[in-house]
Amino acid sequence: MASKRKSDNDSDEEKKPVKKVPHWKGGLLTSMHDSDAQVYTDDDVIIIKDKYPKATYHFLVMPKENIPNLKSLTKDNVELLQHMHEKGKEMAEKADPDLQFRLGYHAIPSMSHLHLHVISQDFDSPCLKNKKHWNSFTTEYFIESEEIIEELKKNGKVVKDVNHSQELLKKPLRCHVCKKEQPTIPALKKHIKEHNYKKSKH
Ligand code: AMP
Ligand code: ZN
Repeated sequence: MASKRKSDNDSDEEKKPVKKVPHWKGGLLTSMHDSDAQVYTDDDVIIIKDKYPKATYHFLVMPKENIPNLKSLTKDNVELLQHMHEKGKEMAEKADPDLQFRLGYHAIPSMSHLHLHVISQDFDSPCLKNKKHWNSFTTEYFIESEEIIEELKKNGKVVKDVNHSQELLKKPLRCHVCKKEQPTIPALKKHIKEHNYKKSKH
């Protein structure tokens, strides 16, 4: 009886439809292997320029190893994530040593293949068009690379609350520097120009 149940389950498994990834979600893999898009490569990572940059400088650091997303990470990936962070920091420094950058992951990425965003904090770009874009880089939807590394070290996995993350994208538009609420994207863009994104010198 038990063996019959097992074989039923096995055949159910076989009938399960394969979850297809929409074609556009694979765009990063194409760009990753396009030598014109690459700005850095070594044995473990490739860095490309984001095709639709949301700031003056916007890079994506990707592992060569096939890691689809944050959920796929294990403790074995800690070193790789540290390497991605270091290379991302070096890329930012090379792009503009005086400009402030943040390095992080989107809680719910839209594109397949793990990618670390390295983005300058001026957000001066025509590709930044809507509230979803803005909130994905300026709320807790954007998770610091170092925070992900710490979580992975501590728990051996990275877990994110999908519903909570989606709510973050609906938050009102708020300046990322002075936190003042802004009514529209054009008003926000005008406002953020008033801030200085140079690193403060100590
Ligand atoms: P995420 O929301 O974290 O999945 O972000 C995906 C990023 O990939 C966005 O910043 C997009 O602008 C960028 N992007 C989308 N398609 C491509 C592509 N074909 N090549 C390079 N970057 C892309
Ligand atoms: Zn402000």
